[in-house]
Amino acid sequence: MGQIKTCAKCNQSKKVTDFYSNKSMPMGVKAACKSCTKDADKRYRQKWYNKNKKKHYADVLRSQKERKAEVNALVDKHLVGKCCRLCHKSDKRLIAKYNGDSIKKIFKIEEVKRALLDADIICLSCVLQLGWDKRRKKKISGGEMASTG
Ligand SMILES: [Zn+2]
Ligand SMILES: [Zn+2]
Repeated sequence: MGQIKTCAKCNQSKKVTDFYSNKSMPMGVKAACKSCTKDADKRYRQKWYNKNKKKHYADVLRSQKERKAEVNALVDKHLVGKCCRLCHKSDKRLIAKYNGDSIKKIFKIEEVKRALLDADIICLSCVLQLGWDKRRKKKISGGEMASTG
């Protein structure tokens, strides 16, 4: 109690309670204080992180790609043999929509499955006719205005 020990790293005199215990050491605590130990841990983790960053990002990217492919496959499978809700044609490129947005944009598999149960299946020409792709349309008309004006 109340014992003072000098940290081997920062050379500051601190209470023994500021050191992590280590039974094999003379005072029953580590040579470096808690904050020095924490710093060392942090540096070690940072070093490890830097070393593994590239690999980590590659892994994340790959799993994202895989999930995207899984979503696409799920939606495509659902669209097989279906026809457009509006023109009833099945030879056009079909899009599964949910709340007005393509289900393929949903990232979570569980949400995709749920959305497919309630999907609006519509072909690309009907989508364009309806102007569901409003954002894209706006962009095109805006561009035209800019070139004429
Ligand atoms: Zn220290
Ligand atoms: Zn259609």
